[in-house]
Amino acid sequence: TTAVRLHKYLAQCGVASRRAAEELIRDGQVSVDGRVVTEMGCKIDPGRQRVHCRGQLVTAGDTGLVYILLNKPAGYVTTMADPQGRPIVTSLLKDVTTRVFPVGRLDLDTEGALLLTNDGQLAHRVLHPSHQTTKTYEALVQGHPASQSLAELERGILIEGQRTWPAVIKLVKRYQHSTRIRITIHEGRKRQVRKMFGAIGHPVLHLKRIAYGKLQLGSLPAGRYRMLDENDLKKIF
Ligand code: URA
Repeated sequence: TTAVRLHKYLAQCGVASRRAAEELIRDGQVSVDGRVVTEMGCKIDPGRQRVHCRGQLVTAGDTGLVYILLNKPAGYVTTMADPQGRPIVTSLLKDVTTRVFPVGRLDLDTEGALLLTNDGQLAHRVLHPSHQTTKTYEALVQGHPASQSLAELERGILIEGQRTWPAVIKLVKRYQHSTRIRITIHEGRKRQVRKMFGAIGHPVLHLKRIAYGKLQLGSLPAGRYRMLDENDLKKIF
């Protein structure tokens, strides 16, 4: 066998997405032949070396793949551990015995659709820029954005020196002091939706992800989840 980067190997074995695997390594949760490895970019030979993550032996292609759609409540973190001791989304998966990880992140204060899986390949396909799936959010924003401002967001605006990809925006409802807007984006930059509306002077008051591609959150209550089947998965891409 040939050498492979440790974080990539963990992702291939379904332990975590590449990004989350890096986090696990940095956090001292991964050992190779009994030694904790915390440096990034370490290469291993899966045929000769034994990798453990959180005390469990990591093996390629043993367990079945599991896909879960959770309605994340506000106040939960989407990382695998939180130094500040805030509740972690995976603690909501009471009946799930397989170790799964969140695909991408949602802010602490954002609610809604969060995909969790042990399928590193799918995570990569959902997150990688070359075939990033769309994500749709419902945002309650302060005030009433002008249609020109929304058109600007649709075309793309500069956030931290980088232009956002074209977005699709739909005005859902105007209230006295706020507006409910649906926005579909292809990227997943940190706090992107909040930054986009912030940039046009209409801060987000409440944010909920309602779909990955055509896979809708639907009426799933906050804190509840359901297992996805192949039909559901097809709707993501
Ligand atoms: N955009 C945000 O601003 N926050 C999220 O959680 C997701 C997308």
